[in-house]
Amino acid sequence: MALVPMRILLDHAAENGYGVAAFNVNNMEQIQAIMMAAKETESPVIVQASRGARSYSDDNYLRHLMIAAAELNPNLPIAMHQDHGNSVATCMSAIEMGFTSVMMDGSLEEDGKTPASWDYNVSVTKEVVKAAHAKGVTVEAELGCLGGIEDGHGAGLSGEEAMAHLTDPEEAGRFVEETGCDALAVAIGTSHGAYKFTKKPTGQVLRMDVIREIHKMMPNCHIVMHGSSSVPEELLAIINEYGGKMPETYGVPVEDIQEGIKHGVRKINVDTDNRLAITGAIRKAFIEDPAEFDPRYYLKPARVAMAEVCKARMVAFGQAGHAGGVVTKSLDDLKKFYAMGA
Ligand SMILES: [Zn+2]
Repeated sequence: MALVPMRILLDHAAENGYGVAAFNVNNMEQIQAIMMAAKETESPVIVQASRGARSYSDDNYLRHLMIAAAELNPNLPIAMHQDHGNSVATCMSAIEMGFTSVMMDGSLEEDGKTPASWDYNVSVTKEVVKAAHAKGVTVEAELGCLGGIEDGHGAGLSGEEAMAHLTDPEEAGRFVEETGCDALAVAIGTSHGAYKFTKKPTGQVLRMDVIREIHKMMPNCHIVMHGSSSVPEELLAIINEYGGKMPETYGVPVEDIQEGIKHGVRKINVDTDNRLAITGAIRKAFIEDPAEFDPRYYLKPARVAMAEVCKARMVAFGQAGHAGGVVTKSLDDLKKFYAMGA
């Protein structure tokens, strides 16, 4: 099966009341881990690459690895998504490289750091929607700003500053209507990276009410949660047990994500949890046999550890078991679908 447009996965998730995890990748082992988990749980798949990932792994390696994943798993629908495109040009180069979905993050200016104006966001998002939809490619947009920085992307807002940049539900409605985007990333108090909250989050800092409000106003809009790793204590503990130095930190509890899924969340970005799993497994392998020097000795358990996290999220978000139910459509099919709507 060829890679599919992300839109069909989000539509199927909405029809059936589940969410789909979007996992970030940089290399072969991470792609294999996601596919191992998807195969075992029969899950539809969203794999995403940031700008940093695309330059680290080189687009051509990434593209061929994704094609391999699709060839080896003909029964699983797989979407390939550009995470946090900072400009129209970045999104266009992703489309050229075979990505079936792009995020135009116009909530920040092209530097990926400065919070942008409403007019800027609407105008770049509209431009990407027009070009992407003409090729059947899905578009995710963002309104409001998250805290933290990841892969060099983010305004670096502190927890309190991020609370001043939450998505306004009323504005969200206008934004989606004006831009025609397929999915909207919202800011509800979460941050990118491992350091999201200093204690287990309450409704005051993790504003699930914003999601409920947006969903009430736009029941058909696919909502995306960024910065949604759960930062499980047991993964931090493995890292620290084997020589790591991770301070105490808290992520977004899986139960809150499940609550979001009941209110229109269809795509959940998870990266940090997989990084923690990989790092813990490698540290453990290094300590357990310091004489070993075959990279496969530590990359194999790292791959398994990431697959375990992916599997747990696929089950928790409800996408497990749904791969076979997705009616596959091509980019060409979606091109016609968008043309009809225009
Ligand atoms: Zn993000």
